[in-house]
Amino acid sequence: MARYTGPDCRLCRREGAKLFLKGDRCYSASCAMNRRAVAPGQHGAARKKVTEYGTQLREKQKIKRIYGLCEKQFHKYYEEADRQKGVTGANMLQLLERRLDNVVYRMGIGLSRSQARQLVNHAHITVNGKTVNIPSYIVKAGDVVAVKENKAGNKFFKELKERKPNGTLPKWLEFDLASLSGKVIALPEREDIAMDVREQLVVELYSK
Ligand code: SF4
Repeated sequence: MARYTGPDCRLCRREGAKLFLKGDRCYSASCAMNRRAVAPGQHGAARKKVTEYGTQLREKQKIKRIYGLCEKQFHKYYEEADRQKGVTGANMLQLLERRLDNVVYRMGIGLSRSQARQLVNHAHITVNGKTVNIPSYIVKAGDVVAVKENKAGNKFFKELKERKPNGTLPKWLEFDLASLSGKVIALPEREDIAMDVREQLVVELYSK
């Protein structure tokens, strides 16, 4: 399935929640959810009866869109989580959080997940000193994630050092802005993933 390339804000309006897909703009008054928080389309503002299936589907779409994945990729995380011990929904979120593009975003190196993905794709990021250009790379506890030394002088990274970070660093990660380097201290537990999502609904949907 092809990747969605339309307007990001439309996705937030569709899900009725801020998905933080556009970096700085999401924290500003220009956020579309501040100005027009209704679903897109002619009948977007109409009240609709939502079925149980509809609720599950919307929650799945929301999480999938937060991480910028297509259906096939997203479903693989569910399958992998289902094979693991423990609670499937929490396992799935943990795997998604451990994606390298997400870690780069959480550390504040990329201002959005899509920008973080681009930084990884363009070989700006190293894991344990080696360049990794695969956004879906799953980090492990103890991994050191950093901006590649010869890229640190780029305008983007110079400006990054001077700006105030938008989000807060989760406790399972550490990051030093001066050296543009951070570490995965531990794997994230469900309570470390501060997102208003109901992953259990995704499990219910996929396990039908
Ligand atoms: Fe969503 Fe960000 Fe657009 Fe706001 S600015 S609607 S949070 S993508």
